[in-house]
Order: sequence, then C-alpha cells, then structure tokens
Amino acid sequence: MKTLLPLIGALAALSSPVIAKPNDAKPEVSREPVVILVSIDGFRADYLDRGITPNLSALAAKGVSASMRPSFPSKTFPNHWALVTGKVPDRNGIIANGFEDPAHPGEKFTMSSDEPYWWDEAEPIWVTAEKAGIRTATMFWPGSNVAWGGTWVTEPWKEAVGGTRPSDWQQYNRAVSPAQRVNAVLDWLRRPAATRPKLVTLYFDDVDTAGHHYGPDDAHTNAAVTEVDSDIGKLVAGLRELGQAANVIVVADHGMAAVSSERSIALDQVADPALYKAGDTGPFAALTPTEGNDAKLAAVLLKQHDHMQCWRKQDIPARLHYGRNPRIAPYFCLAETGWMINATKPDKPSTGGAHGFDNAAPEMAALFIASGPAFAADRKLAAFDNVDVAPLLRDLLGLPQATDGDGDDAPFKPVLKAK
Ligand code: AMP
Ligand code: ZN
Ligand code: ZN
Repeated sequence: MKTLLPLIGALAALSSPVIAKPNDAKPEVSREPVVILVSIDGFRADYLDRGITPNLSALAAKGVSASMRPSFPSKTFPNHWALVTGKVPDRNGIIANGFEDPAHPGEKFTMSSDEPYWWDEAEPIWVTAEKAGIRTATMFWPGSNVAWGGTWVTEPWKEAVGGTRPSDWQQYNRAVSPAQRVNAVLDWLRRPAATRPKLVTLYFDDVDTAGHHYGPDDAHTNAAVTEVDSDIGKLVAGLRELGQAANVIVVADHGMAAVSSERSIALDQVADPALYKAGDTGPFAALTPTEGNDAKLAAVLLKQHDHMQCWRKQDIPARLHYGRNPRIAPYFCLAETGWMINATKPDKPSTGGAHGFDNAAPEMAALFIASGPAFAADRKLAAFDNVDVAPLLRDLLGLPQATDGDGDDAPFKPVLKAK
C-alpha cells in the first residue's frame, strides 16, 4: 500500500485542476484596451440592414457605423492593403488581385505571392506598430505573412531574409474554420501583458464566397452573413469573459453586385484577340497591346461601347485614383456595375455576384462598425473612404499620423472620445 501512494498522488495531480496560489487567482486589475481589426470579406454595407445580424447590430448600436467607400478597384487584395496602409491601390502597389510588373519581367503577382518586393510600396500598420514597440498579431489578412521590407533570396531555398512581420502571424489557409480563427485571437489575448498583442487582425472569407456563388440577394448569402455574425458574437463573448476591453473595428473590403451571363461583354467581339494580352477580366479588363498593335487596339477600344468604358491608363477618370502605377496595364476597360467583361461570350447560363466595379457604386459599399471605449455610442457616420481607416488605427494605437497617406482621421473626430 505504502509503495502505491506516490503513484496515486501523481495521478491525482494529473486529473485535478492546478490549485492556484492566491496571487495567481487574482484577475489582472486593469487590462489595457486592445485594437481588433476584423474583415468580413464581401460584406456589403446594406447587409447590416437585413435584420439577420444581432451581434453586429448590437456592436453598431453600442458604437459607430457607416457605409464605407472601398478604393478602386473594389477587389480583395487592393482594398485590404488600402485599409492597413492608408494608401489607394495606385500608390500602395497592390493594384489588383493579379498583375505583372515591368520591374520583374516574367513574374506574376497572385494572391499567394509572399515575395516582399510586391508589397513594399506602402507600409502596413502592423509594421509601423512593431517598429514602435507595439506588439501585433494577425489571424489572416492579405500581406500579413510577408516579411515586409525584407529581401527575397532563392538560394539555398526561396525565402525572405530580414524584414518585419507581426509578432504572431499565420499563413493563409481557408480550411481554418471561423471558430478556430476567433479562438486563436482569444488565446493571444489570454497571454500575460508582456506578450499580449495590442493590435490584432481577424479575417473571414465565407460571406464573399457565398456572394460570388449565389449573388448578394440569395438566402445562401444571408445564411453566410448570419453565420459570420455568430462568430462575431463568439469574439465579443470571449472578450467579455476575459475582461478584455477592446476597440473592435469591423470592416469589409468591398460589397457585391448581382451578375448574370445575360449581362456579358465579349472582349473578342470588341477587339481582335491578336491585338492584346488580357490580364484580369470580369468587372474590369486590363489589356496590353501585342507588339506593334498599340494604334490598332486604341482605335477599337477608345470609342463608345455599350455597358463598358475603356481608357488609356493615363486617362482613367481622376476620381478613381488609378493609372499612374507602372503595374497597371496600358489599357483599362471598366464594365457598368452588374455587367461582366469576358474573353468570349459565356457558353452556358450563370448567375452570381462580383465586385471590382466603380468604387462609388452603392453595390460596392462596404461595412464599417467601430465599437469600444474609444468610441461614442449609437452614432452613424456619413460615407468615407477606406484609406481613412489606417489613420484611425494610428490614433487608437497612439502612433503619429503618416505624412504621405491618402486619407485622414477627420471622419472619426466627432465620435472619438478624448483620452
Ligand atoms: P476575391 O477574388 O477578390 O473575391 O478574393 C477573395 C478570396 O481571397 C477569398 O475567397 C479568400 O479565400 C482569398 N484570400 C483572402 N485572404 C487571402 C490571403 N491572405 N492569401 C490568399 N488568399 C486569400
Ligand atoms: Zn474581397
Ligand atoms: Zn470576392
């Protein structure tokens, strides 16, 4: 019997909870508020008015909400980068979800490009924060896995050398469930103050995916909206349980417009495909003339078209703030909202949703909610540009304003409480 005692003791220690010393049990007296930037990809501003989002609506009621104008083009990567850099795509370098660059011949930017040189035209907020000694953590965000400012080497293997990443970051993986993403954020915030992040990002993709497949007005899209709303509910409940005050900023990168194969512009019927190489097609088309064919391409593109306008890049209307970056192709065509530019006529009928259209179109308007100790309650703001979000984040983190940004914090001045 005597010999079994240590074993029984060890087993008991394994199965019973650790008994905390009185000091450990004491909750931290005051947790400094954190900033949580949440992106719900493709959450159109007016989805919030559908009466299917109890948690987001409660956040809006407790804080500030608005319909936010995305930057042009209203695509995922350009806008996520605009939100965290405060610069429009023409100046932040991420001019589309896919593009080429004369400075890197033979290479192509895609949504999985990690090489720092694609991203180095604008500094994201987590790099500014880390450089100022503010700890950051990203549960996905385009560009957050990039060693910003680092050098890309190919030997002995492909990797970035140097550069700055968030203290905690994750390689993008769609398979990580929304609940896991929320739990990862809460786990970071459960840490002791010294290793707890002060700026956190969190990203959800399912509303965009449903919007593309079914269109913005379909029950499946509403179901995805309700689902993500419950994930926001889990985040808010988790913060409450932790006693963690947070300024939560919920944004979308763009909205969603209904599209149909009935509303298609077939590019090959506008211009002989031998005259151009097409980059992106869809809500817009980026076209590069083939060798010696510039004048011929100009002649067929630069005239009136039904449901589409085309320009030389330098003639794109100034309000779109697009066309100076060398990464933008020489010719650019933009479809009327709800129409699609396709290489050829669609061979079978389809419906769904798309974005990338004029950023002033109401269908492209994006969600904005800000709630927490820094914000006044129950306030609606007039529409503002998404490049104003990075200046707001700087205010919340106590970082000085950038001198070369495209936005400013003016829209938030009336709703920010004095510190
Ligand atoms: P879009 O084609 O503009 O609708 O882009 C939306 C898609 O971007 C979503 O389906 C996501 O899966 C994908 N995405 C979002 N963030 C990332 C990321 N960090 N890396 C790669 N893909 C991403
Ligand atoms: Zn998107
Ligand atoms: Zn999308």
